[in-house]
Amino acid sequence: MSISAGFDLLLRGGRVICPASGIDGVRDVAIRNGKIAAVQPDILPTSAREVVDVAGKLVLPGLIDTHAHVYQYVSGRFGMNADLVGVQSGVTTLVDQGGPSCMTLPGFRHFIVEPAKSRVYAFLSAYLVGGLEGHYYPQLYSPDGVDIDATVKAAKANRDIVRGIKAHAEIGGFARWGIRVIEMAAEIGRRADLPVYVHFGQLWGLPASGANGEDADTILSRVIPLLREGDILAHPFTRHPGGFVNRDGEVHPVIAAALDRGLKVDVGHGSHFSYRLAKKAIAAGIVPTTLGADIHGYNTHVPAPAGTPDQHEDDENHPFAGQAKFSLVQAMSSMIALGLSLEQVVPMVTSNPAKMLGREDEIGALKVGRDADVSVLNEVSGRFALRDNEHNEVIAERLLQPAFCLRGGARYGAVASILPQAVAA
Ligand SMILES: [Zn+2]
Repeated sequence: MSISAGFDLLLRGGRVICPASGIDGVRDVAIRNGKIAAVQPDILPTSAREVVDVAGKLVLPGLIDTHAHVYQYVSGRFGMNADLVGVQSGVTTLVDQGGPSCMTLPGFRHFIVEPAKSRVYAFLSAYLVGGLEGHYYPQLYSPDGVDIDATVKAAKANRDIVRGIKAHAEIGGFARWGIRVIEMAAEIGRRADLPVYVHFGQLWGLPASGANGEDADTILSRVIPLLREGDILAHPFTRHPGGFVNRDGEVHPVIAAALDRGLKVDVGHGSHFSYRLAKKAIAAGIVPTTLGADIHGYNTHVPAPAGTPDQHEDDENHPFAGQAKFSLVQAMSSMIALGLSLEQVVPMVTSNPAKMLGREDEIGALKVGRDADVSVLNEVSGRFALRDNEHNEVIAERLLQPAFCLRGGARYGAVASILPQAVAA
């Protein structure tokens, strides 16, 4: 066989799960010129220049993290290195949630998207300042800090990168300015014809003057009517007030109707994720659409880039302060430990986010002719303790860990310093 007729790489003998293709079984995956060339049982090993034995491993479409913060340097310590949370963590595609704004998007394209080995999209911030210092200063996020026209214009002019709009509906903002900012964000989404990703759960503290009669448990029912099919409710399982489970411990009654109407749910795991509340919501039938790790510089410990001010690093009251090491793949283990099946969790990081991005014809599936974005995971059996920041613990009997990934056929080891180690229970 001539070289030109052969494959560059063969991933041999793994369990391929590709929800979009309806495949779940042992297959070989062949790569040629950076593209998926074949997904079949028993491809001849001699047909490839390099063969990697992945027997016993999971071979998935390149994982998509719907909630990343990678506007490095510009968003202060908050912004991670894209490839650290991306290809070095077994993840081929990232969606930055609200880092860049209409004013800072050109920098995001030039300094983050273009040099990254990982594929990077953004949900454009509805606010002029974007996610500076992780939204640390609430006064920057009032209705005066939103320019609807400019944000719609930037989104429309950058559709290759901008695939949605990011906004926050939480008690600190509502107590300061009411619902106006979310109305403005919803208008941006409608006019740009992009989904709006809405953060629920307290982010900003209440104003010193008091809460102005606002109640976190009313926010969902007031915001949902502003949203359209395909818009995303994020952080359903937050331990902060304003998530899916109200103060009486019940799943908010408006959620079921919202999901019937086509609204989507993103876990946005992060460090405010509560196993206690997630158990309750999942038992009530909430199956998230997408996962989203929500890793950033306050909930992981990485050395600050030279010259980055660290003024919030030791702030234990910061609502995001928390665990030291995390990954999207660990968030998958977290869902499985809560009782969802692997077959339910894989679409949350592959086919479903591809649809959310309007890119289901390009990513999120192992189909012949597409860019070879592939994530290979190890499955470790045992008893592992997973803990949240409320000190709830769940026992995982199956832990997933990234082995390596291919991004456009190029291979990256899972070498990120933020990858968690298994902790035996
Ligand atoms: Zn976030």
